[in-house]
Amino acid sequence: MTQVAGSLTEDQMQTQTPEQDPTTGPPVADAETEACPLGHRAEGAYEQTPRTTATRYQSRMRYDRAAVHAVLDEALVCHVAFIFDGAPVVLPTVHARRGDRLYFHGSSGGRFASLDGQRVGVTVTLTDAVVLARSWMHHSVAFRSVVVHGTARVVADHEERLAAMRALIEHVAPGRTADSREPTRKELAATTILAVDLNEVSLKARGDGVADDEADLASPYWAGAIPLRLTAGEAKSAPDLLAGIEAPAYARSYVRPFPCGYGH
Ligand SMILES: Cc1cc2nc3c(=O)[nH]c(=O)nc-3n(C[C@H](O)[C@H](O)[C@H](O)COP(=O)(O)OP(=O)(O)OC[C@H]3O[C@@H](n4cnc5c(N)ncnc54)[C@H](O)[C@@H]3O)c2cc1C
Repeated sequence: MTQVAGSLTEDQMQTQTPEQDPTTGPPVADAETEACPLGHRAEGAYEQTPRTTATRYQSRMRYDRAAVHAVLDEALVCHVAFIFDGAPVVLPTVHARRGDRLYFHGSSGGRFASLDGQRVGVTVTLTDAVVLARSWMHHSVAFRSVVVHGTARVVADHEERLAAMRALIEHVAPGRTADSREPTRKELAATTILAVDLNEVSLKARGDGVADDEADLASPYWAGAIPLRLTAGEAKSAPDLLAGIEAPAYARSYVRPFPCGYGH
């Protein structure tokens, strides 16, 4: 991202109250509804700490569990940041949430395997719209993002490893674990599974309002938002599939977010 949704915008917006602010985030869905077959509505909020308090524009921040979980569950991938050999590294990967814990996995020969006990940052981002303002400086992106500050733990317990693997598959496609082969112990042994407990967590949301300066409102340029959505294409069967196997319903009508906060 360039300076398009720049910090200047955030600085300038600081003088507005949330009621005046056209960029205040959208209502963030509570994905964990009563209808979810797997769990209960998450209650309460993560404690707001100095590390999760925004230095600017605190009105965009949320800490309630249900809202944080909804964003974590909707995002297909996360980015994991850590220090390796004295330098910062950030890697994209698939994650899954079970209750107040995030999981991700990698090859046991990869760098994730070295992170046991190490501080990590994890972030997910959902881009809801591009916001085109009359002035360059107020161009922006409507988003919902979560930042997790935590400590990685390499999961050793077999049952927890299997449960984490299950959650990772279900995060990608609910129902899929019942419709595919589970890993062998040997396969699992070649995989590092990391857990990060959700304690210090923040959600930031920017809505799709245009925040032009008063002086620019009379300018002749179009301004507005272009909503963005993740849409699935047509399921494409593997060419070596056994004859007669049809794509299942969850593949033919894949949607994200899923109708409930799956993964818990
Ligand atoms: C799609 C997208 C585009 C963006 N574009 C820009 C841009 O061009 N320029 C820009 O300055 N900022 C942009 N942001 C916002 C950016 O992520 C930071 O929030 C902002 O730069 C403030 O950073 P900071 O380190 O000063 O935050 P601080 O306010 O110092 O952060 C304090 C704490 O607040 C929490 N926090 C901060 N940002 C986020 C976040 N995004 N999501 C969840 N928790 C958060 C974290 O816990 C963090 O430790 C963008 C965000 C998204 C998702």
